[in-house]
Amino acid sequence: MEFIDLKAQYQAGRENINARIQAVLDHGQYIMGPEVDELEARLAAFTGARHCITVSSGTEALLISLMALGVKAGDEVITTPFSFIATAEAIVLLGATPVFVDIDPATCNIDPTLIEENITQRTRAIMPVSLYGQPADMEAINAIAYRHGLSVIEDAAQSFGATYGGKRSCNLSAIGCTSFFPSKPLGCYGDGGAIFTSDAGLATAMREIRVHGQSQRYVHTRIGVGGRMDTLQCAIVLAKLDNFDWELKQRARAAASYDALLSGKIGKVARPRDRSSVFAQYTVVVDERDRVRAALHEAGIPTAVHYPVPMHLQPAYARWSAPDSAPVAQAMAARVLSLPMGPYLDDDSIGQVCAALLRATGSGAASCRQD
Ligand SMILES: *Cc1c(COP(=O)(O)O)cnc(C)c1O
Repeated sequence: MEFIDLKAQYQAGRENINARIQAVLDHGQYIMGPEVDELEARLAAFTGARHCITVSSGTEALLISLMALGVKAGDEVITTPFSFIATAEAIVLLGATPVFVDIDPATCNIDPTLIEENITQRTRAIMPVSLYGQPADMEAINAIAYRHGLSVIEDAAQSFGATYGGKRSCNLSAIGCTSFFPSKPLGCYGDGGAIFTSDAGLATAMREIRVHGQSQRYVHTRIGVGGRMDTLQCAIVLAKLDNFDWELKQRARAAASYDALLSGKIGKVARPRDRSSVFAQYTVVVDERDRVRAALHEAGIPTAVHYPVPMHLQPAYARWSAPDSAPVAQAMAARVLSLPMGPYLDDDSIGQVCAALLRATGSGAASCRQD
């Protein structure tokens, strides 16, 4: 069993993907070719945001967004400690300070009730993460940001395709950033990412920053980065978009199958009704996580831990906060376990995973035993 089956996905879209790659090889415009504009238009339409800027990765998307907002040394950016390190990395690369605000134990996303007490004169932005594919409490976060004149950047690297209050992730705040890392819900076959905004001024700034701050050839109006997404990767995402709605349905189907077998027996990340997840991960919450994980490994079932150490406790990041500043994130880091997931995961496999999980945790083992 694969944790995320990228080979099955390629086989399902093979002809379309191959044709899209061949078209790029034939026209030869490997950098900023026509597929870049085509993809940006399709992604903007999908999310409802007015502008989409493709970039070289999700990490670069976050960095370029903060640069476009003018975040600089001495500024503070509020974020969650429970995410992939890239979220905080983009902040510290600009010399700004990450202010880690603890999470809601139910959703594992930033707890909006703790944000306001962490806002200071230096705060410039709030960067929530839509963890595991499910948007954070964006309405509450946007309201706080509005009251204090701050910008909100959604780190939607895991949540492209999710919805919140009827709108798509990436179009829930001033700026949304996603990643096309191969195993994300919408992936390419290398690195890639995209930034979304409906603010024309920010969009222009981000387009220029993406190409070394150029406003015209060899006119560097701003300090930028080398942050383009290459044409081949854009072509691959275009091909995968054709199948994306179907894949989202299959992800929901797989999650519903897990729910049916685990509900009432195993803790899982809460899913409020006003939003939908794309299940970048299907994550359960168990005691003795490492023992349970080892038992699943023994049974041939791959799992992952997102994330074993909260960012404020990482060696390179500990200087910005007290070790006890996010006790909920710390507790959840010891208990979360992500199970195999993806549109091509069949119900038989889900049954096997659940049987092994229930056996390992001793929950309802008798009724689910398969051996
Ligand atoms: C994957 C991920 C990123 C970084 O994306 P890359 O494309 O790998 O640079 C940033 N934030 C979160 C929450 C992620 O999951």
